[in-house]
Amino acid sequence: MKKSLTILGSTGSIGVQALEIAKQLALPVCALTAGSNAALLEEQIRAFRPEFAALLDEKAAQELSRRVGDLPTQVMCGADGIAQCAAAGAHTVLNAIVGIAGLAPTLCAINAGSDIALANKETLVAGGSLVTSAVLEKGVRLLPVDSEHSAIFQALQGEELKSVKRLILTASGGPFFGKSREELKDVTLADALKHPNWDMGAKITVDSATMFNKGLELIEAVRLFDVPADSIEVVIHRQSVVHSLVEYADNSVIAQMGVPDMKIPIQYALTYPKRRPCPVEPLSLTKYGTLTFHEPDDDAFPAIRLARRACAEDATVVYNGANEIANELFRTGKIGFLDITSLVEQALDEWKLKSGKRKVGYTLEDVHNMDKWARDFVLSKVRNSTITCVYSLLT
Ligand code: NAD
Ligand code: MG
Repeated sequence: MKKSLTILGSTGSIGVQALEIAKQLALPVCALTAGSNAALLEEQIRAFRPEFAALLDEKAAQELSRRVGDLPTQVMCGADGIAQCAAAGAHTVLNAIVGIAGLAPTLCAINAGSDIALANKETLVAGGSLVTSAVLEKGVRLLPVDSEHSAIFQALQGEELKSVKRLILTASGGPFFGKSREELKDVTLADALKHPNWDMGAKITVDSATMFNKGLELIEAVRLFDVPADSIEVVIHRQSVVHSLVEYADNSVIAQMGVPDMKIPIQYALTYPKRRPCPVEPLSLTKYGTLTFHEPDDDAFPAIRLARRACAEDATVVYNGANEIANELFRTGKIGFLDITSLVEQALDEWKLKSGKRKVGYTLEDVHNMDKWARDFVLSKVRNSTITCVYSLLT
């Protein structure tokens, strides 16, 4: 029998591309979920005929139920409906939800014994050992979809982890590469959404502009590959052709390359350890001609330094939660671009003061409490107008 696939977040940028790959590989689809886009989910259900579907939004789920009433697909709603889809027992669950909302469904899928193809980096950043220990306990595979982590995973094949000296994560630098802190003061959402190489959802596109995406990826790499944060270097590589690299004990460096197209890492997570033809352009090195590499600018983009600090202080949930809400406040016009970083840094400062002794081993409830604390802290700072926000817009 063919391996079945569930996609959480199927209407988003990764979800839509994952369905293209599912079609290409003729994978049967077990379940599809999304936030509120009933029209696109209906199209996907008609094309892929999953057994289950769910929408987070209750009204949208009712509309979807009506739209697909002629089909056997069972439509569910809310976070519970999404969790049920995640736990439906597909061979692989590809998680392309955005944000910490992906954590609980990931745990449901692991507990149901499904392999996880993980695009939702916030799951690992916030969930940490909750996720990695569940993966070990259930004996399932955790396969990276994020292009950098897929590159490292590919460069590690057949090698011993103990001979790894350094991981090198590449970063495009986003739309504001080369700008000083002063020049970043007045950048707009429209400017932040103009990513040079990738067409992605709004949250990750803003994360790429602030470099929080790379900070999150650094923490994701710590968790996925079980290496210390200080053995991971970040290098700006404008062309996004070298997706990341591994340096070994003998100073040999293995890189994975390809055109910037997420379909390659999505497909590798679904066919691993095999490779299949993929509907993307082949890489022409001569067309690129020059590949460039630069050090990140910590003054203009402190997000990577803050990620290292969050690892050291066991505060990656705070880092993620504060960034998620600050990113959203920026996207809804309530704070300025530089406020995002400032708010995350303030949340880390406050958490350090308040958290006291380190706790070993978090529960899912602990993670949700820390996440809520970080969000509430950011919202309270914005309400108290310590930053350049428009208070009246806050709901
Ligand atoms: P997106 O915003 O385009 O899509 C998100 C999907 O999740 C949509 O289907 C949406 O309906 C659903 N969703 C949103 N909030 C939800 C919630 N609270 N509960 C349930 N479903 C919800 O995002 P994207 O760009 O596809 O990114 C998805 C994830 O993959 C993110 O974690 C991102 O960091 C990661 N990622 C994306 C890319 C990329 O190229 N887009 C690359 C690497 C990693
Ligand atoms: Mg990435």
